[in-house]
Amino acid sequence: MKPFQSMPWHALIWRQWQQQIQERQLPHALLLTGLPGLGKRTLARALAYFVLCTNHQGQQSCGHCRSCHFIEAGFHPDLLTLEPEAEGKAIRVDQVREMTTQMQKSSQQGGYKVVLIWPAEALNINAANALLKTLEEPEPQTQFILVSDQPSSLPATLRSRCQIWPVAPPSLEEGEAWLKPQLSEEQQPLVLLKAAGGRPLAALKLATPEAEERRHLLGQVMESLVRGVNPIEQAVKLKALALPALLTSLQSWLADSLRYGLLGKEGVQDVRQLSLYRQLYELMGQRSLLNLEKELQAMHHQLHTNPNVDLFLESLLIRLTQELHHE
Ligand SMILES: [Zn+2]
Repeated sequence: MKPFQSMPWHALIWRQWQQQIQERQLPHALLLTGLPGLGKRTLARALAYFVLCTNHQGQQSCGHCRSCHFIEAGFHPDLLTLEPEAEGKAIRVDQVREMTTQMQKSSQQGGYKVVLIWPAEALNINAANALLKTLEEPEPQTQFILVSDQPSSLPATLRSRCQIWPVAPPSLEEGEAWLKPQLSEEQQPLVLLKAAGGRPLAALKLATPEAEERRHLLGQVMESLVRGVNPIEQAVKLKALALPALLTSLQSWLADSLRYGLLGKEGVQDVRQLSLYRQLYELMGQRSLLNLEKELQAMHHQLHTNPNVDLFLESLLIRLTQELHHE
């Protein structure tokens, strides 16, 4: 895919933006919202590139002008990205101030300047306030594009300064058509897409060797726990896996086990583990599955405190064993 293009399921939003641009009605601050895995950043970038391109080809960037060449080279002097310095960290007020100073300088290309901000919920309160001031008195020819998976955790004052654009998942057919050419022969696009709750980029992540390995290992360990094998021995097998991804997988399996028990096969998101779901539901029942799901959510929050991995895995598997075998 060219770096300048949005994704097929963004077409409606793209057309609406084009209309606004033609009528010179595109608001100076946009907020793209929606679940992770829908390509919001790709869409935001595509608009940024389009705004910066000086030789539009219809509704697309040209890919050839000086501005497009900058983008292809990986650096554009009039494009700034405001993001946390490391994943999980905040966007700080001095980053916003630095950006504001940059924006006050005239554009290198004599045209627009664009600021991408993601994830916008990472702005700490001082940073959000500083940004708010900039949005209230914007420099001319400046375009802000904010991206957020959790818009409700943004200050209402900040949200109210932006035009909000919810990005929706594609239809299953559209998602499948996009996914298929990116998978190997034996991978099933529709199965992966459903397992990812209809989110194409999340489905692509499920298709990676790391995700396959995680599913395989976790599946083995869960089968062993079902058979009553010592959880401490099993914990060692999971040591190499990243804890957040492990917990996310486990949470979705518990949720699917519950759906399987209540709704049958049709209600399940990820159909690759049906026999395990059946066993988990039979052994644990609704209440235990619900309780465990809540506990896993709480454990997810504990990850910020960098827990001891061995102890964390052991206590996780001991809890699962207790619920499986009513110990
Ligand atoms: Zn161009």
